[in-house]
Amino acid sequence: MSESTSPYKRILLKLSGEALMGEGKYGIHPPTLTRIAEEVAELSRTGLEIAIVIGGGNIFRGVAGATEGMDRASADYMGMLATCINSMALQDSLEKQGLKTRVQSAIKMEQIAEPYIRRRAVRHLEKGRVVIFAAGTGNPYFTTDTAASLRAMEINAQVILKATKVDGVYNADPKKDPTAKRYRTLTYMDVLKQNLNVMDSTAISLCMDNKLPIIVFDLGTRGNIQRAVTGHGEFGTVVGAAETVWA
Ligand code: UDP
Repeated sequence: MSESTSPYKRILLKLSGEALMGEGKYGIHPPTLTRIAEEVAELSRTGLEIAIVIGGGNIFRGVAGATEGMDRASADYMGMLATCINSMALQDSLEKQGLKTRVQSAIKMEQIAEPYIRRRAVRHLEKGRVVIFAAGTGNPYFTTDTAASLRAMEINAQVILKATKVDGVYNADPKKDPTAKRYRTLTYMDVLKQNLNVMDSTAISLCMDNKLPIIVFDLGTRGNIQRAVTGHGEFGTVVGAAETVWA
């Protein structure tokens, strides 16, 4: 087992459902899932404790259902079930890499996942198992970003790694505006005030109140999860309490 060069002992990785789609428009792209699992396995073998929260946007989003006339709470529960499908797919993929894993769900579904029990989750992590938190917070009107902040706090993770499709946070959309600049570090307050696209405001506020740093990075290139973990603040954009610095 190679030694971890990470400054962290325990991390929470937040993957959006869309991260599993690859180039597709819906659902799960198995080669993409395998690639992510390989990266997580490499990191886990260094001794880093890894918890994962996965979204469901590749399958169903509550807001989309509500726009089509569905009851928002019902649509959100469907969204939470979508995260369970993704969690099981990721679990399968991680286990193919030889990892020990557990899925803990915020909505009871005993035949397929453990219920979320904080102390038990921590115990799994201590034993080197990767823990996947499914069903978000278990409550409608929330997001899996908020679930990631909440669970990270509960398990005393030292950082949230927020995987996205861009290599950090920009002051404008870098795909549309060639003058867009990337931040190297950002304060929580700047994210909130400027409405920057990091995580929703509930998730950011929770991190701010508890001074939990967030590293926003691009999942697209192999090895980037490792780079984010070992980058010592030089990779992606770090959202924290310190001042804002441009890249
Ligand atoms: N959701 C919810 N409560 C939660 C987490 C998620 O109601 O605590 C629902 C919500 O409808 C959301 C969907 O699950 O749209 C999928 O989660 P999210 O949109 O956060 O997934 P991502 O964008 O990360 O793929």
